[in-house]
Amino acid sequence: MTMFYETVTTCEACDFVHRVPPLQKGERFRCTHCGHVLLSLHNRVSARILSVGLSALLMLILSLSFSFLGFSVNGIGRTVTLFNTLSVLLSQGYLILGAIISLALFVFPMVYLLSVLTLVWSFRRPNQYHSLRRYCVRWLIVVQPWLMVDVFLVGVLVALVKMSSMADISFELSFWAFCGYVLLLLKTVTLVDKRWFWNQVAGPSPDHQIVMGTAKQQGLIGCHFCGATLLGSAHHCDRCGHSVHSRRPKSVVTTIALLIAALIMYIPANVFPIMETTFLGSSEPSTILGGVFLLWSLESYPVALIILFASVVIPLAKVFSLSWLCWQSYYPSKRLTSQKMTLYRITELVGRWSMIDVFVVAILTSLVQIGHFMAILPGPAVLSFTAVIVLTMLAAMSFDPRLLWDKDESRRLPLSPLGEPSE
Ligand SMILES: [Zn+2]
Ligand SMILES: [Zn+2]
Repeated sequence: MTMFYETVTTCEACDFVHRVPPLQKGERFRCTHCGHVLLSLHNRVSARILSVGLSALLMLILSLSFSFLGFSVNGIGRTVTLFNTLSVLLSQGYLILGAIISLALFVFPMVYLLSVLTLVWSFRRPNQYHSLRRYCVRWLIVVQPWLMVDVFLVGVLVALVKMSSMADISFELSFWAFCGYVLLLLKTVTLVDKRWFWNQVAGPSPDHQIVMGTAKQQGLIGCHFCGATLLGSAHHCDRCGHSVHSRRPKSVVTTIALLIAALIMYIPANVFPIMETTFLGSSEPSTILGGVFLLWSLESYPVALIILFASVVIPLAKVFSLSWLCWQSYYPSKRLTSQKMTLYRITELVGRWSMIDVFVVAILTSLVQIGHFMAILPGPAVLSFTAVIVLTMLAAMSFDPRLLWDKDESRRLPLSPLGEPSE
C-alpha cells in the first residue's frame, strides 16, 4: 500500500507544529494539542473524487433540464424549472437576489466541481499543467465555505410547508435530480483534503528542526492556506504563494467591525417585510418574525422553529459568541480553551444555515406568480438579512482562533524536543 509523506505541518486552529508520520491510506492525522483533523487520507481518493464529482455534475445538468416544482391552486397552476427561479427574479428586477441564488447554487459549486475534477485529471500527467493545478486548489479552498446547495434544499422543503395550506405542490423530476446533486456534492467535499492536494500539486512542505510547541514560540509561521511551516521572516508561503502571518493582522478589530455592521443590518432585516403576498388584489407584507408566528398559528411547529432558529436565534447567537471570543482573546476567563474552540467551530459551521429564509423567499417568488390572482414578491428585508449572514460569516473567518490559545496559561510549558512518538 502506498504511503503518504508530508514533513512538518502547523495546526491552523492552535498553531502547534507537528511532524507528520508516514500515513497509510484510510488514516487520519489529528492535532495532538487541540484535536483538529489536519489530514485525512482517503482510500483510492482520485478515483472516488472523479466518479462522485462527475456524477454530481451530471445531476446538476439533469436538475436544470426538467421541471423542478409544480404549483396549483383552485385548478390554476404552473410548473417551474430551476432556470425559471432565476429568470423570474431577474425579470422582476431583483438582480442582487438573483445573483446570490446563482452564485450559491450554480457558480460556486461549478467552480468547485470543475476545479476538483481538473486537478484529479491533471494528476495523470504529472509533468504538465503546473500553474493550472495551483489555480484549481486555490479556487476550491476559497469557494468551499460558500457552497449552500444543502441549505437551498431545506429552503425548498420549508417553502412547500409554508404553501401547503393554500396550494397543491408537486415534486417534479428535476427536484429528485437536485437531491442527488446535493448529496454527491457534499460527498465530494468530504473527500477533498487541502493538505493532500497541496502535497500532490507542490510537493511536501519545507522541513524544519522542530520542538514540541507552537510555531510562534519557535520563530516559525504556519501557512493556514496549505499547512506548510515557514521561517518567521517569510511574507509569502513558498509552496502555495499565499501571504502568511504569524497571527492574522488586525483580526479582532476586523471581526468587531464586521459584527457591528451585521448588528446594524439586523435592524432593517427585522423591521421591514421580507415577503409580500398578493391574494386577489390585496397585498399583505410579512416580516421574519411575522412569518414565524403565522407558521406557529397554522400548527407547523417544526418549520416555525427551524425559521426561528435559522433567521433570528443563529445570527444573534453568532454575534454574541464571536464578540465573547474576541473579548476572550484579550481577557481570558478560566474556561478551557478547548471549549472556546468548540464554540468557535459551531459558530463557523451553523452560519450559512441562516440563508434558509432568503432561499424560501426566492423559491416562493418564482413559484407563486399567477397574475393578479396570487403573487409573492420579496420585501426590502431580504437584502439586509443576506448582508447580516454574509457579514457574520466574514467575521467568523477573520477571527484568528490561535489568539485564544496564546492566552492559555496552561500552555506556557518549557519547550521540549520532539523525540520518539509517545505511544
Ligand atoms: Zn491544533
Ligand atoms: Zn502555503
